[in-house]
Amino acid sequence: MVKLYLRPKKEESVLRFHPWIFSGAISHSDGNPEEGDLVAVYDSQKRFLAIGHCQVGSIAVRILTFKEETIDKDFWKKRFEDAYRLRKQLKLINPPVNDTYRLIHGEGDLMPGLIVDVYAGTAVMQAHSPGMHLARIELAEALKEVMGNDIQNIYYKSESTLPFKADLGAENDYLIGGDHVSNIAIEQGVKFHIDWVKGQKTGFFIDQRDNRALLEKYAEGRKVLNMFCYTGGFSCYAMRGNAQLVHSVDSSSKAIKLTNDNVSLNFPEDARHEAFAEDAFKYLEQMGSQYDLIILDPPAFAKHRNVLKNALQGYRKLNAIAFEKIKPGGIIFTFSCSQVVTKENFRLAVFSAAAQSKRKVKILHQLTQPADHPIDIYHPEGEYIKGLVLYVE
Ligand code: SAH
Repeated sequence: MVKLYLRPKKEESVLRFHPWIFSGAISHSDGNPEEGDLVAVYDSQKRFLAIGHCQVGSIAVRILTFKEETIDKDFWKKRFEDAYRLRKQLKLINPPVNDTYRLIHGEGDLMPGLIVDVYAGTAVMQAHSPGMHLARIELAEALKEVMGNDIQNIYYKSESTLPFKADLGAENDYLIGGDHVSNIAIEQGVKFHIDWVKGQKTGFFIDQRDNRALLEKYAEGRKVLNMFCYTGGFSCYAMRGNAQLVHSVDSSSKAIKLTNDNVSLNFPEDARHEAFAEDAFKYLEQMGSQYDLIILDPPAFAKHRNVLKNALQGYRKLNAIAFEKIKPGGIIFTFSCSQVVTKENFRLAVFSAAAQSKRKVKILHQLTQPADHPIDIYHPEGEYIKGLVLYVE
C-alpha cells in the first residue's frame, strides 16, 4: 500500500476523525497510487493516521478506518453488520409494515463513497468514489453474506455517480440475482413501485419517510398540492391521512406516471387524486388559492457553492408564490436538499419569501433527514435535508 505523508499540522482534522483528506494537505508519497487504490496516511512525523481510498480531485482520500487494519471482505462485513443492526433497532426491517430503508449512508455509516438502499428483496448499491467502484464485487459478496435471505438481488447503479474523469466504464447491472425481482416495496404500510433501473438516484427518496409521516397527520380534510411529487410519496401519505383532495405536480411525465401508479396501488379508483405534468413555477403562477396544504420538495437548486446565490433566489421565489396563494390557515411543508445550502441560508430564503408576501407565518416544525441517513458528528457536511413546516395565517 502506498504511503501518503501530510504537511505539518494537516493531521489535525484527521485526528478529529474527519473522513476526507484534501489534496492540498498532502506533502508527498512513496509511490504513485492509481485512482481508487487503498493508501495509508501518515503525519509529517511519520505517525500512522488512517487508511482510505484515494482519488483525483480536491478530496484526495476518503478515509475508511483510523486503525491499522486490513481492508478486505471481513472488514466490509463488519461495517455492513453494524449498519444492519442499527436499521433493525430502528424497526425499519419490519415486513409487512416496512421493508424500504437506507442501509448505508456513506460517511454516516463509515463507508464514504457508498450508498445502499434496500427495497424489499433488492439492495441497490451506488458508488460515488472510484475506490468503492473497484471494491464492488467484494462489497456485494459481503453484503449478501451479512443479509442472507433478507435480500435476493443486488443491483449496482453507478453509471452516473462516479467521477466522470476517472473513466471507469461502470455499467448498471445486477451483481447478484436479478432473475426473480419484485419491484414493490413497502414504506410504513404504503406500497410503492420502485424503478431502480430507470428512476432517479436509487429509484425512490427514502429520506423523506419521517416527513411524509408527519404530513399524514396534517392532511385530514385538506386540499393538498404536492409539488415536485416524483414517485408520489407525499401524495400517498396525504391520501391515507384523509385529505379532501390531492394534486401531484412534476415536470417529468415519467414521474407523473409513477405517481399515478403508486396512488392506484394503494387507493384504487380513488377520485380524490389527480396528477399533472407541468413546470412548478408555471403551475404555481396559474393556480388559484384553493390549496390549504402545500408541499414544496424541489430538486437541489445548488449542487456547487458558486451557484449558491441563484439557488437561494430560487427558494425565495418558489416559497413566495406558495405564501401568496395558500388559503388562510394553510400549512406549507418546504424543503431544500442542497448540501451547500445551510439551515440558516434556507431559513433566510423562506423568511424573505414570507416577508415579501406580507402573510403572518409561524414555524411549527424544523425537519431533517431520518435516522437511516445518519450524520457522522465529525462530518457535519453529511446533513443535507432541511425542512420547515409553516402555518400561514
Ligand atoms: N418529493 C419527492 C422527491 C422530489 S425530487 C419525493 O418525496 O420522493 C424532485 C422532483 O422535481 C423530480 O421528480 C423532478 O422531475 C422534479 N422537477 C425538477 N424540476 C422541476 C420543475 N421545474 N417543475 C416541476 N418539477 C420539477
